[in-house]
This record gives sequence, structure tokens and C-alpha cells, in this order.
Amino acid sequence: MIGLVDCESFYCSCERAFRPDLKKTPIIVLSNNDHWIIALNFEAKNLGLKRGVRFKEALPIINENSVVFFSSNYTLYSDISWRVMETLRDLSPGVESYSIDEAFIDLSGFKNLAVYGETIRRTIKKQTLIPTTVGIAPTKALAKTAQRLAKKDTGIHVLETQKEIAEALELTPVEDIWGIGRAYAEKLEAAGIKTATEFIKIPGWIVKKEMTSVGWRLQRELKGIPMADLKIEADPRKGIISARQFRSPVQELSILYEAISYYAELAVEKLRAQECTTNSVTVSLESSGSGGRNGRHASIEIAPTDYLPDIISAARSLLKKLYSSDLEYWRTTIFLFGIEPITGRQMNFFYGDNRKKTVLSEKVDEINSKLGQHTVHPCGSEFRTDWGMRRAYLSPCYTTRIKDFPVAHW
Ligand SMILES: [Mg+2]
Repeated sequence: MIGLVDCESFYCSCERAFRPDLKKTPIIVLSNNDHWIIALNFEAKNLGLKRGVRFKEALPIINENSVVFFSSNYTLYSDISWRVMETLRDLSPGVESYSIDEAFIDLSGFKNLAVYGETIRRTIKKQTLIPTTVGIAPTKALAKTAQRLAKKDTGIHVLETQKEIAEALELTPVEDIWGIGRAYAEKLEAAGIKTATEFIKIPGWIVKKEMTSVGWRLQRELKGIPMADLKIEADPRKGIISARQFRSPVQELSILYEAISYYAELAVEKLRAQECTTNSVTVSLESSGSGGRNGRHASIEIAPTDYLPDIISAARSLLKKLYSSDLEYWRTTIFLFGIEPITGRQMNFFYGDNRKKTVLSEKVDEINSKLGQHTVHPCGSEFRTDWGMRRAYLSPCYTTRIKDFPVAHW
């Protein structure tokens, strides 16, 4: 069985974790430069506020209802995300981070899954103060379906029997099927297919023909057949993750540098394909030794960019910070957060003239698309920190900066 653990209103829950006074308060989190709303909790949604609405336009509702607002603090969010994932690693033998706030966990062989799901939720809440919902089912696609139901219900939903699975599929409109995408959902609806139950009844060869092998794998998963090669990218707004395990443990920093640069390249390729920028880079380094498996991570915030050399420099500087020459490493990961659409590339007082970088990136994309991936790739560049961004409502970095640690008084 597979579990999907999803953190509820993650950014807002991170802000609330250190502000118990904000219990039941509507909270919103703002984009780079405090332009628009990127995250909101249940209480804020209930007031009619929405993702993507400009902060200034929302001000009347915000003021009238005492909505609390924060600038996005990706250093805090990625650190808390790491803590949630580490907690999960103690609860399951296999944890796969799917996005900043979601993970698939291996629960094969586990008994009393509804009770164990509750234990998972309680443990994460106790150790990280983050509320979660959990879906458990025989496949990833069904676990996602179960989690969607859990969200509407008691926070935990298990699909074990054929009857439970059939009921869940009946309650799932095609547009809510994980990974189906808006275009395919519209196509299916136009053909009279409204629920997941109807979707799994379409003959497999038609699904393969009309929706490629990804659609076909998804259909098999919804029928309860696990497909190991099912690859569905998380919502890009939730960050981009690029990682791979080394075939044998690695000790040299130079090899780790090469690896992280390569994974950065893959991540930036996805970022550029979506015409987005990132402003927060996190790198993790996992070692294995006599003390068992161990992981460390570090984050840095940078000027919003899609320029590979800048992102590689940031990643390398983080890697250097984490590296210790007496350990062997088996995995390194790069996470890009703060993903936002490119909003014009005009010159900016803080970020400098990006035109040269844009032209260079476009040329590299052009050559690589003609001659193959990685034909042209950078060797790294100086890392710059001389930038500034408007973040007037930033919360403290409670978990990563000593001066911001909460102080207990008694
Ligand atoms: Mg979530």
C-alpha cells in the first residue's frame, strides 16, 4: 500500500506554526515583491479571497476582516518541509518527496492502516506543528484520490477493498483526477466522460492513442495496478525537485559539484519551459555511514531568475556549506521554490540588466534543442548576493537564523 501525505495550506501553516495567536485567523502569503496572493488558508478562502489576486485589490477585504498577511519566506517553508519529510522517514521505510508539501510513503506490509494514518498525522503535528491529510491506497493515483477525499472528510481516507475503490472513483470528477490536466479533462467531458469510474471503462488502447502512454499508465493505476514508471510532475508552482541516487557512494566534492550542476540544469530546463523564475534554492546532501543514513540541507534566497549559471552558483555554494570530507554521499537533491511566471524582463534597479542573460539563455536553449540536451552547459560563475527585494511583511526565519529563534519565557 502507498500513502500520500499532504500538508494543509502549507505556507500559511508554516507561518501559523510560530504564531499560536493566529489560530483560526485568515492568513495569506504574498508573491515576490508582495505583488499578489500565492497562498491562503481555509479561513481566508472563506472570505472570497483567491490565489493570483493582486494584494492591492484585495486590501478592502483584508482590512475589513483583519486578514494577516506575510511576504513569502521560502527559507522557512523549505526548512519546515525538510522536517516534515524527516519525520515521515521515521514512520515509513520509503519516502518520496513529491513537492514541498507532499510525499508518497511506502506502507507495504503495514496493518490497521486507518489507525496508522492517524498516527502519522498526529506525529507530524506534534513534531512540526503542521496539519496534514493522508490518503492510503494500493497505487499512487489511488492514494491521491483517497487524499482528496480525506481533505473533505476526517483528514484520513483508506481505499483497501474493491468496493471502497469503486466508491471513491465514482466521487471523483475527471478534472480532479491526478495528472489529467485541463486539456484532457475538457476532451473527456466533451465525450461524455464525467467521473473516474467512466474513465477507467474506456478501452486501454484508446486511452493510449488519445492520451499517450502517460494517460494509459494513469488509467491502470486507477484500476489498482501499480505502475512503477508512472511519472507525473507536481504542480510547478509547488517547486521543482531534481535528484538522483548515486550508483555507488561518492566522497569527492568535485563529483558532487558536477552532479548538482547537472541536476540544476534539469531543474532549470523545466523552469524555463514553464516561463517561470525561482527565487529560492535548496540543496540537500544525504550520507550513509556508521551512524546510519543522514541528511543535511541548506537554502538561499536569490533574485528571481531563470539563469542557469546563477542557479548553479547558488547550488554549489550551498553544497560547499553542507559537505564534509569524511563522509560518503549517496544522494544530492536540488529544490527550486518561489516559482513565479516571468513578469516582463525590463531593467530593474535591484536586479540589474538581465538582457545579456536572457539572450544567452535563449541561444543555449536553441542550440540544445537542435543538437541535444547539454550540448552547451555552463562551468559555473561567481555567486552574487547584492540584490534586494521588497518583502515588507516577512516573518522571522524561526528555524534557520539564530537571532530569530523563538524564546520561551517562564
Ligand atoms: Mg498541500
